[in-house]
Amino acid sequence: MDRYVYGFADGGRHMANLLGGKGAGLAEMTRMELPVPPGFTITTEACRAYLEHGREPDRLADEITREWDRFETEVHKRFGADRPLLVAVRSGAEISMPGMMDTVLNVGLGDEAVLRLAEWSGDERFAWDAYSRFVRSFGETVLRLPEQLFQEAETRVCDAFGAGRKNVLDAAQLKVLTSAYQEVVNAETGEGIPGDPRRQLDLAVRAVFDSWNGERARAYRRREDISEDLGTAVNVCLMVFGNLGPDSGTGVAFTRDPATGAPGAYGDYLQRAVGEDIVAGIRNTVPLAELERLDPASYARLRANLRALEAHYRDMCDIEFTVERGTLWMLQTRIGERGAEATFRIASDLVDEGVITPDEALGRGTGERLARLLFPRFAESGTDRPAARGVAASPGAAVGQIVFDSRKAVERREDGRHVVLVRPQTRPEDLPGMLASVGLLTTSGGKTSHAAVVARGLGIPCVCGADQLDLDVEGGVLTLPDGTRLRDGDFVSLDGSTGDVYAGRIPLVPSPVARDFVAPAPESGQSPAQQDAETVHDEAVRDEAVVRAVRRALDWADGHRRLRVRANADTPDEAVQARRLGAEGIGLCRTEHMFLGDRQPIVERLILAETPAERGTALAELLTVQREDFRGILRAMDGLPVVVRLLDPPLHEFLPDLTELSVRHATGDYRGEDRHHLQRVLDAVRRTHEQNPMLGLRGVRLGLTVPGLYANQVRALAEAAAGLKAEGLDPRPEIMVPLVGDVSELRLVKQEAEQVLAEVRLATGTAVDCPVGTMIELPRAALTAGDLAAEAAFFSFGTNDLTQTTWGFSRDDVEGSFFPAYLEHKIFAVSPFQTIDPAVGSLITTALAGGRAARPGLETGVCGEHGGDPESIRFFDRARLDYVSCSPFRVPVARLEAGRAVVEGAVVEGA
Ligand code: ADP
Ligand code: MG
Ligand code: MG
Repeated sequence: MDRYVYGFADGGRHMANLLGGKGAGLAEMTRMELPVPPGFTITTEACRAYLEHGREPDRLADEITREWDRFETEVHKRFGADRPLLVAVRSGAEISMPGMMDTVLNVGLGDEAVLRLAEWSGDERFAWDAYSRFVRSFGETVLRLPEQLFQEAETRVCDAFGAGRKNVLDAAQLKVLTSAYQEVVNAETGEGIPGDPRRQLDLAVRAVFDSWNGERARAYRRREDISEDLGTAVNVCLMVFGNLGPDSGTGVAFTRDPATGAPGAYGDYLQRAVGEDIVAGIRNTVPLAELERLDPASYARLRANLRALEAHYRDMCDIEFTVERGTLWMLQTRIGERGAEATFRIASDLVDEGVITPDEALGRGTGERLARLLFPRFAESGTDRPAARGVAASPGAAVGQIVFDSRKAVERREDGRHVVLVRPQTRPEDLPGMLASVGLLTTSGGKTSHAAVVARGLGIPCVCGADQLDLDVEGGVLTLPDGTRLRDGDFVSLDGSTGDVYAGRIPLVPSPVARDFVAPAPESGQSPAQQDAETVHDEAVRDEAVVRAVRRALDWADGHRRLRVRANADTPDEAVQARRLGAEGIGLCRTEHMFLGDRQPIVERLILAETPAERGTALAELLTVQREDFRGILRAMDGLPVVVRLLDPPLHEFLPDLTELSVRHATGDYRGEDRHHLQRVLDAVRRTHEQNPMLGLRGVRLGLTVPGLYANQVRALAEAAAGLKAEGLDPRPEIMVPLVGDVSELRLVKQEAEQVLAEVRLATGTAVDCPVGTMIELPRAALTAGDLAAEAAFFSFGTNDLTQTTWGFSRDDVEGSFFPAYLEHKIFAVSPFQTIDPAVGSLITTALAGGRAARPGLETGVCGEHGGDPESIRFFDRARLDYVSCSPFRVPVARLEAGRAVVEGAVVEGA
């Protein structure tokens, strides 16, 4: 780059990488001729050079001198020669890190300058107040002297004058305070603060550079995943004063409500104050609307500026401003942060206002934000303060009673209680407890810890890695940072969208968006009792606005997307739910759930059967129950495809645990069963036990070795479909064979299936069309896809198993053990179980090419968890798959992201 320093008039909004977000905003406002105090920006590149070499780059000093001369001329021209040249030296990185780095105000003050400041302002007290603040902050921030020394000096001076706080000191007393601060500096450094303003400036700039590597900044970057090597820019900006009198003040404002997205300016104002007073919370701010009463002219100008900024940035902005004796100054702006609700509301409103197009609006609301709106949220009382904060791992708010172990969670759930499972971290054996909980809280682990991944998959709110909490599982005590001790059965509330954890019960508000999927277009004004009419009205309006905004976003997405979205659903209830959420079929119906619960004894009899007759009875019973399940699911999905996966897990998953059985056998604990039976079960468990179940007798291998098993499932499905067809419905069953590695496996199962289908056709007189396809979840399948496609009517990529078998990972084992280390070493940036791994991706493209060449028009889809992941969806869209299938509550997320993928792709291709 050819220069290190840019005047505000030379930069612009698109230079944030060089000027930082704040510098880019100041430059843009300067160009827009909004009232920005003059100044200049030292680039992030200068900072990087400084950090790398431990000293400022050679040209920097000259460039600053050049820019300073221009600055001085401009200030004198615009403000008159008597205005002291005091500046704010402000940090500002490319990505906003609010309050994480240093800012030094009033640089340029000294024993001479303070007199001129008093003269110029006509307010001696103000001048000495500024000088005392300057000495202290220069001492603390630039010279890194301990805060405590200044605090002690302040207390001494206040005590001497009998003053409780320094705010009540008069000019003469503030002068004494300043000297006391100066003495601290002299004693600690052996010299005072340099009197030369330019020397002060250089030191302040260096301090801001250094603050990039301060502890706060580093911790923030780690948490927000911001790169370490960006560096910060430094903005040097003429000081304006909000504490000069009643016609002065300082504030922050948003062009719309950042929580709800409602139009109109929102913000806070503090009269006769500088910014740090707001942060210090010494006095209470007033709502921005008060400024209209206090200073109508400034308020009107501010509103006009806010409108101009929003029109210019074509989005909601937030700003910092100061009024100096009735003159408004803009100190900062950027595109404003907002909540999930506001994201959709603002995008939708901006379309109505003609500011942005629907395509742009679609670009603004991510699936993750939509996911947050599908869960209940905490009522906004504004008074509850989080007791701790962890990682926002899975969205939604949850309130429940603490349990410290999974088994108890299951028991409590059975008693009808809402529980939150609290663990150091979770392991696969915690799954039943996790399923029984309304929320999960862990004290270690990040976004890809077991708890986080499983919670997202299940749609359970989760806060993980809340390491400020002290968890004593043995003792059954959770200690909060403030010392409060919570025990088993105590209530805790957590917000998986923010990471906040609260002690006690925070009231929940149901999600209006989720309600809309169940019962579309509610009439406004449901009448929650015991609230006053005003609130009810406001809330109804707010709910209606967000519901409408989300509906529109999904309509726009549906209008664009190429990918169809199906759901993974195993029961009629899930199927109904999925359809309401917009699923266009079921991409994965796992049949193992039909073999669990009260059916488990039947399966056990099947496995233990010693004669064909015993086997036949068990199969007949299974046939009846499965047929009912299939009927329910096909009915709920009438007219839409339902892909049924034949049994996949190893048989021992349907038998009791080996260790537990062995113990019972050894101790004679038969639980009312006869001894002989227990022995037979134990034998069967031993027989079917595997070292490596993930790679063992499962999937199609079961179908080919357990006689009658797959035929039985096909028959149940075909009979269910034939029955519905006879009722005049339109069932669309499809059969999917899992874990196929070779075409002959598929061929054998298919032959058997077709024979059963023919038999059912003959027996019922109803022809049901039921295509047979295969899962592609082994590398061998992907590599022989051409052969498979000769037999398969469709491919469905099982990306979970394909990831496991490509990497040679057993997910349940690796996520809790070495994944954190792999993420730390950046072997991958996100878990390959969350976002599709490039190598797995290339197996998919290989399989697609092979499959399509052998069978033009081959239908293809994905039924792993990746089907609901935004980044993976982009990959599937580019690969031109026909559909993704994901858990029901991810369906709207996938619809939205599939639409966004197309729009983004068009932008990229058009560029
Ligand atoms: P942050 O990035 O932490 O917001 P800023 O650089 O915005 O830091 O500075 C913090 C505060 O300092 C601002 O909110 C404002 O009140 C005050 N400030 C910054 N620049 C000026 C200025 N030129 N004149 C007066 N006050 C300023
Ligand atoms: Mg700021
Ligand atoms: Mg699988």
